[in-house]
Amino acid sequence: MPSLLPYAHGWRQALRRRTPFSALRTCPATPPEEAASTKTEEAKRQTFERSAAELASLMPKWQARWEAAHHKRPQLPPGDDSPSSKAKAKAYVLPMFPYPSGELHLGHLRVYTISDVLARFKRMQGCKVTHPIGWDAFGLPAENAAMARGIHPEKWTLHNIQTMKTQMATMGGKWDWDKEFRTCDPDFYKHTQRIFLMLHERGLAYQAESLVNYDPVDMTVLANEQVDANGCSWRSGAKVEKKMLKQWFLRIKAFQQELLRDLDALAENGNWPERVLTMQRNWLGRSEGMKLWFQVNAIHYGLQPTDIEVFTTRPDTLFGVQYLALSLKHPFVQLISQSDPDLRAFLDRAQTLPPDSKEGYRLRGVEAMNPVSKLSPTPDPSIPVYVAPYVLDDYGSGAVMGVPGHDARDHAFWRANTNHLPIMQVITSDPGTVPEPLLAGSDNDTPMLSTGFIASNISLVTSKAFPCGGLPSDEAAAELVKCMDHNSIWNEKTENWRLRDWLISRQRYWGTPIPIIHCSSCGPVPVPLEDLPVRLPNLPDESFQGNAGNPLANDPEWKKTACPKCGSAAERETDTMDTFMDSSWYFFRFLDPKRADSPIRPREANNGMQVDVYIGGVEHAILHLLYARFISKFLATTPLWPNGATVHGEPFKKLITQGMVHGKTYSDPETGRFLRPTEVDTSNPKAPIIKATGVTPNISFEKMSKSKYNGVNPVTTIQKYGADVTRAHLLFQAAVSDVLEWDEEPITGVQRWLIRVLRLSTGFFISPQTEKTFKPPHNFDANFIDLLSGFRNMGVLKKAPNARPGAYKTPEEELLAALKPEETDLWAKVQETIASVTKSYSETCSLNTVISDLMGLTNAIWDVGETSVTSIYLRYVAVLHLLRMLAPVAPAVAEEGWQNLISKTSVRIRTNTEHPFRYEGKPGVFAFGFPKAEEDILAKLRLTNQCVFMVDGKKKFETAIRKPPAHLGTVGEVGEVERYVLKVLAETEAGKEWFGDEGKLWKVAREMRERGGEENRMGEDVDIMEDEAFELIPRGWRVKIVGRGKLVNVFSPKKAKTPEEKPAAGVEI
Ligand SMILES: [Zn+2]
Repeated sequence: MPSLLPYAHGWRQALRRRTPFSALRTCPATPPEEAASTKTEEAKRQTFERSAAELASLMPKWQARWEAAHHKRPQLPPGDDSPSSKAKAKAYVLPMFPYPSGELHLGHLRVYTISDVLARFKRMQGCKVTHPIGWDAFGLPAENAAMARGIHPEKWTLHNIQTMKTQMATMGGKWDWDKEFRTCDPDFYKHTQRIFLMLHERGLAYQAESLVNYDPVDMTVLANEQVDANGCSWRSGAKVEKKMLKQWFLRIKAFQQELLRDLDALAENGNWPERVLTMQRNWLGRSEGMKLWFQVNAIHYGLQPTDIEVFTTRPDTLFGVQYLALSLKHPFVQLISQSDPDLRAFLDRAQTLPPDSKEGYRLRGVEAMNPVSKLSPTPDPSIPVYVAPYVLDDYGSGAVMGVPGHDARDHAFWRANTNHLPIMQVITSDPGTVPEPLLAGSDNDTPMLSTGFIASNISLVTSKAFPCGGLPSDEAAAELVKCMDHNSIWNEKTENWRLRDWLISRQRYWGTPIPIIHCSSCGPVPVPLEDLPVRLPNLPDESFQGNAGNPLANDPEWKKTACPKCGSAAERETDTMDTFMDSSWYFFRFLDPKRADSPIRPREANNGMQVDVYIGGVEHAILHLLYARFISKFLATTPLWPNGATVHGEPFKKLITQGMVHGKTYSDPETGRFLRPTEVDTSNPKAPIIKATGVTPNISFEKMSKSKYNGVNPVTTIQKYGADVTRAHLLFQAAVSDVLEWDEEPITGVQRWLIRVLRLSTGFFISPQTEKTFKPPHNFDANFIDLLSGFRNMGVLKKAPNARPGAYKTPEEELLAALKPEETDLWAKVQETIASVTKSYSETCSLNTVISDLMGLTNAIWDVGETSVTSIYLRYVAVLHLLRMLAPVAPAVAEEGWQNLISKTSVRIRTNTEHPFRYEGKPGVFAFGFPKAEEDILAKLRLTNQCVFMVDGKKKFETAIRKPPAHLGTVGEVGEVERYVLKVLAETEAGKEWFGDEGKLWKVAREMRERGGEENRMGEDVDIMEDEAFELIPRGWRVKIVGRGKLVNVFSPKKAKTPEEKPAAGVEI
């Protein structure tokens, strides 16, 4: 008969808890716990509410104390291994510049929380952190508010800043307020003007007559980027008009090659998100192609034939050109318009058409000649010429060829303007075929957009040396160029950019005045440096009331000045700068915010730049970043940032773009109407109902807006739950770059977790007996072996069980073996968490993972029973580590917990004047830095064997399992090693498939039992087993374990009878 081994009680408990195999368990079910009385439930609820209220009060409590302690910062004792005693690396952590709208919203809270968490982490790692904040204070909303309210924009702006600072204080961020500035302060904009003049001196700022986008509501010029696809202003939403105005531009195109090339450097190590790089690349829009010239005949207008330059990226489609389209401002169009009143009328009307309009005007009697028609027979070589708003004046030369068979926009244009005419197809996906023309209204009337093969009926007739039909697109294009060159048809390989120079003129008051003086004899003259800043006139409040137009242009006093060159009467430039100009260099200023004579000292720029982590919304991923990169690259070519070139003049080393915050939105399923929160009964959060109708509302998460009643005031949330809970919840709910669906319901999970952390920090696990003699380790950052040696010396750690001399090769091995498995597990968990959390904070910025890792560690510390005095000490140190890792996310909870835990042991600390806890009174959690993972200890704690698992001698799988502790099998019960190995094997992924509830092992056993047979001994009563050994191995089966777990072979009862299978180191069960 197989022997039924008595199992150690603790083992069985562990097994029961961790591997709930219930398939064959027949022990009577534990009687259901008595339903808790209402009283207990009520008491629990009250306890929770008390703890939750305490959580909510912690930030104000600690903020006040931190503030008070600000001037006598705690320092660590000298000579220790703390980060502060080493040379500090710098870390410049910066959230994108806030615009002072006057209202802190959840999007702000999200970005400032991320930024604060990263800055605190870097500070705890011992870096010299710069974490400033300032205000992007110029801009239209302030001016519009001023006009609506009759109040100076500055007053409105300063009031908003004050409000937002008060709101921001509630979230517990640690900011360098001594570096704060506002872009509307003359002390700042003086330097914006200085940078403008530096650009001007280098020919990078210039004035030009230009057809501009004019917003008739805001009465100002907009950059192309500020006009949406429907031709409306990004701010006012008004239909944008085209106007010819003299404007100031910055020559960003001079840097386009570098702006494109250096994206590769930013991509390294995933420092910039791929999608942002793509957006930058697309905005720069470099395309390779060729220029060629179409001859245009306009005899109808009495004009000589003329050649019009066309740019194309797809020379392979030249055979399919069916029309030519010219921009509204094309010189040829302007010329014709002089004698064509209909065209003039069209041009006037076209100003108001959206940029993607399909309207066109066919120039009567004007025809163009496709240059390839000289090389290949074409049915009709002359093609119509249109004027079309979709053609941009400054793309190529303002003329494009129309290939409706192979371009979606050209196809739509052709159908809109000619309707029924067939469309040629000259590219095909099957080599050697001739595609059918596209017919209007037919099913296949869609252009083929991709490259392919030239239709096989196309040939270049002028020379047999140039094949064409059937060639792949790229080869055909190359052949075509060769053939054109051979036949003296002029063509030019070239590149084109979508990027335009940056239009910075705004006809508004509330911006940085452009420091230029216009003199009738000298032209535009820069304001001398000593005269900077050119200040805005201080206008009375009422002058803004309902006032449209540019107050600067309407202020003759302010405008009047003398020419700095010739001294004659002159006028100031009345345009101010686009506010993107302010935000394109402000990050330099934070490094030297008080400097009066220069935007920044070169030394400060060299030492402080780049920004190490830049955090902001993805909506700023194009323009702001492009302009900031441009100005930084420019500054890197000046004496202001001498070392800039070493980082390609790139300002932001790592970029983190956080996703938007969406609000929980209720709507009526019948009418689709959005519901106010007051209209919905959410007393049962799982089943809300519309109060008026009792109907279940539709719930969605959408961009927060007043019309959807889904806005959330972060200050209210912070007041209700506390800053720490709100911060942790916000980080936990979504990965940083994902959309955050703000839902308050799961916040209780975070509350419970932090309550548990505080509970652990009371040191409840230190038993009264232990407390009397408890000595916290002097250096809890010591490596683990030293920590254990310390415990040994104090008599806390007992000798390892050892049946025979020489069981342990080294003292280190003996110390580790002295630990209980739960203790080893706990420390392995601590070390794994430190490593993982450090990586998440510093490399991946997966802050939601930080929270889940810390939750896991909290539970692991919570779950360790009091197996020995050592476990108390280990839990104590583990909680210290937990609190330090938590501190960046939940600073007040961490501080509270830290002080609690230290107080618990203060009796002992008080007698030791050199104890770090005693130094400078009670230094806070932040003074002790961030724990460092001890890389090599994990391998010693988590020793594994490669284990081969076999059934009846046949290999089933191989997996890594933990090695049995050294002392197992040397003392204690027979079969300890086997039980240990089986247990850890069953916990592996592959093991679960075999040993789990419906595991394969049980299936095999069942099949054998069903087949029956005399020799099957496990038959009769599988269902009434008494020993839990049967939870892993079917009764009657036998296991043989070799090499302390390198091989596990399980034998079915049938095999077990074979005499030669007698196990050597195996155990029968
Ligand atoms: Zn002059």
